[in-house]
Amino acid sequence: MEFIDLHAQQRGIKERLLDSIRGVLEHGQYIMGPEVVQLEQHLSDYVGVTHCITCSSGTDALLVPLIAMGIGPGDAVFTTPFTFVATVEVICLLGATPVFADIDFNTLNINPSTFEETVIQTIERGKLVPRAIVPVDLFGLPADYERIRMIAERYELKILEDGAQSFGGSIGPRKACSFGDAGATSFFPAKPLGCYGDGGAIFTDDDELADAMKSIRFHGAGNDKYDNVRIGINGRLDTLQAAILLEKLAVFDDEYELRRQVASLYRGKLDGILETQMVPSGYRSSWAFFSVLAKSTLERTQLRAQLEAAGVPTAIYYRIPIHLQPAYRYLGYREGDFPVAEEVSSRVFSLPMHPYLKRNDINHITEVIRKVVSV
Ligand SMILES: *Cc1c(COP(=O)(O)O)cnc(C)c1O
Repeated sequence: MEFIDLHAQQRGIKERLLDSIRGVLEHGQYIMGPEVVQLEQHLSDYVGVTHCITCSSGTDALLVPLIAMGIGPGDAVFTTPFTFVATVEVICLLGATPVFADIDFNTLNINPSTFEETVIQTIERGKLVPRAIVPVDLFGLPADYERIRMIAERYELKILEDGAQSFGGSIGPRKACSFGDAGATSFFPAKPLGCYGDGGAIFTDDDELADAMKSIRFHGAGNDKYDNVRIGINGRLDTLQAAILLEKLAVFDDEYELRRQVASLYRGKLDGILETQMVPSGYRSSWAFFSVLAKSTLERTQLRAQLEAAGVPTAIYYRIPIHLQPAYRYLGYREGDFPVAEEVSSRVFSLPMHPYLKRNDINHITEVIRKVVSV
């Protein structure tokens, strides 16, 4: 059994993938070829926004909008300490200061009330200027954008949605990656929509922001690459990856439905046995990861050991919250500052999740868990 089975997916679409890759080898436009343009069109239609700007990674898809928003030294950017490090490192790379707010125990996403208290404290301290919030759609579940948007408007903050894990998720009729002033996603192979290397995309309805981001992605180009109107990066998606993504996007909705069925089977079987991430009504997770909470670190260790012995791979996302990571000590946080994120980090782990997980596998996994938990 695999944690994420990319081989099974590839078997289903292999011929189409090879045709698509061959097409790129034939026309030879490896940088910004026609597949990139086509993919951006398809992705913006899928998410339901005006602009999609593909990028070299999910990390660059977070960095580019922050550059375009003019985030820099002296600015406070609010986010969650319970995320992948990329969310936070892009803020630091620009010389701005990440300011953490604790997560909600049920959804594992940033807690809007705590976020607002943190904004107020930051204003009172008077050292940093509140500029933006980067909510993370953890494990694929969109954050509470209704409340986040109200608070962001009150304090004039930009919203950059970290939708690296949530492509395909939604709240009501609206798709993930469309909830902020800009939204970022990742095409890292293990993400819900993955390519065969690094890739990412930014989504926005803001024409001006889109123009700036396109330029930043391409060395700050004006009319052309040799007309540099702002400081930028090399942040483009390879044409080959775009060609692969076009084929993967074509089967994405079918795969999403399979993922949703896997999640629903898991949730049914684990009900009353293990806590799972809560999905509020009207929300749909992309089910990037299926994460559960053991009662304690000890129980987590036992569960993972028994699962491993039974041939079931598991993983821990994320064992150490960012405020306790060595590289981020300079921010001055201490253990105990974000009790919910810290507790969740000590108990969370993830079960195999992919569209091709069989009903028998899920029965097997949940049976092993039931035995451990009921001892
Ligand atoms: C994967 C991920 C990123 C970064 O994406 P890359 O494509 O690996 O650069 C950012 N934020 C979150 C929450 C992620 O899971």
